[in-house]
Amino acid sequence: MNDWYKKGLYFKCHKCSKCCTGGPGYVWLCEIEIEKISKHLNLSKNDFLKKYTRCVRGKISLIENQKNFDCVFLKDKKCQIYEVRPSQCKTFPFWHCNLSSEKNWEDLKESCPGIDDKNGQFFDFEKIREIVDPNL
Ligand code: SF4
Repeated sequence: MNDWYKKGLYFKCHKCSKCCTGGPGYVWLCEIEIEKISKHLNLSKNDFLKKYTRCVRGKISLIENQKNFDCVFLKDKKCQIYEVRPSQCKTFPFWHCNLSSEKNWEDLKESCPGIDDKNGQFFDFEKIREIVDPNL
């Protein structure tokens, strides 16, 4: 196991919404998330899927603005479905790819001002592992 972060990490979300935009990408949704978000929007599951998602390699992802790649739910720099946002959004920046090396974590500072912010929350190794692999 890659444990360069065994002493823990600091993080604080500055609510700048940079992680909800940038280049093209995917926000994957599982069945439970699809149901929760549809309900939150007062839409049938089918209407939600038609209006806000696409199928990529057999998986469901939210769509994005084709001009600037903003997430479809980003409006005025705010997430319109924050209470029911997908797990991928909730667990950022503690993703496998970001933690796979110290360099990847360092590089993330360019796009996320909350990385290593000592005014933020301290996440010990166990907590980080719990977020990255909730099924462990
Ligand atoms: S880029 Fe980082 S600081 Fe900005 S909203 Fe996303 S998680 Fe928060």
